[in-house]
Amino acid sequence: MAKNPKYLFQNGKVVPFADAKIHILSPAAKYGTGVFEGIRGYWNEDEEEMYVFKLKEHLDRLQFSMKVIGLDETPTNQYMHDSLLELLRVNEFRETVHIRMTVFIEGEGDQGATGPVGFTIAALPRPLPKAISKGVTAQVSSWTRIADNSMPARVKCNANYNNGRLATLQAKRDGYQSAILLNSRGKVAEGPGMCFFMIRDGKPVTPSATNDILESITRRTLIEIFDEYLGLQTNERDVDRTEMYDAEEAFFCGTGWEITPIISVDQLAVGNGEVGPMAKKLQDVYFDLAKGKNKDHPEWRVPVFKAKTGAKAAE
Ligand code: PMP
Repeated sequence: MAKNPKYLFQNGKVVPFADAKIHILSPAAKYGTGVFEGIRGYWNEDEEEMYVFKLKEHLDRLQFSMKVIGLDETPTNQYMHDSLLELLRVNEFRETVHIRMTVFIEGEGDQGATGPVGFTIAALPRPLPKAISKGVTAQVSSWTRIADNSMPARVKCNANYNNGRLATLQAKRDGYQSAILLNSRGKVAEGPGMCFFMIRDGKPVTPSATNDILESITRRTLIEIFDEYLGLQTNERDVDRTEMYDAEEAFFCGTGWEITPIISVDQLAVGNGEVGPMAKKLQDVYFDLAKGKNKDHPEWRVPVFKAKTGAKAAE
């Protein structure tokens, strides 16, 4: 377990880690009334630089989540961008970090409260997990993915995550490393905190955006990488449960999960039950781009330390 950083950012200032607190009667604590983003800052050891990956896309999605959940006063992209860079610099990170940016309702209001609005950023060191190279086993959960007309998965609301929690607990109890949730139509949706891809007949396939998924930034990036670097068009469509049993390869993707191969589903091997060549190729391209070792797509990376005056964030 990596050690906690010295500082977090809360409500306009950098504060010591232990001081970033909220009240137990806040809607954030009572109902999970908050929205958030998980973002990564990748450390490039050759350049001694950190690159925040696809920051604009994360801030835009956070704006969308804030709009749907209904918050009074919302921080601008520029403010969130600048606050994040300030926090990363003051902590003097020299390693890859996972960043959690949360906008939530403080005070003591009820379910209809729209303020006061709090804003916190935490960046925690996160080294590469073993699952990236070894892959994980997955169970199709008996829990159903939350639906767009009840708790929209497209909105990254804190409360949504109890759906994934139930699936995760069940999977762990049953001896699996991860879960895959089907939606109310019985089609594959996603994992508890990550999207799903498979390779069938040599082609990438992923559940379409109307399958009760979070519209993942990594998913979009992989669709772009498949096209630009591997010459493959991704099929975004409904995916049946049994298609996963027949896939040559499968993997999860997300800011946190990056590209994590799935080696079996429901104890049935995916392909030959080992990490496949496509997942490996994708990981190589993805990590090189995210860390800025591959200089293509500079618009995907915000440098933290060398560009102290910083790029302007899109509003
Ligand atoms: N689905 C869910 C439910 C998630 O929480 C996440 C992580 N944000 C993802 C998918 C992957 O999204 P992204 O690639 O934007 O991190």
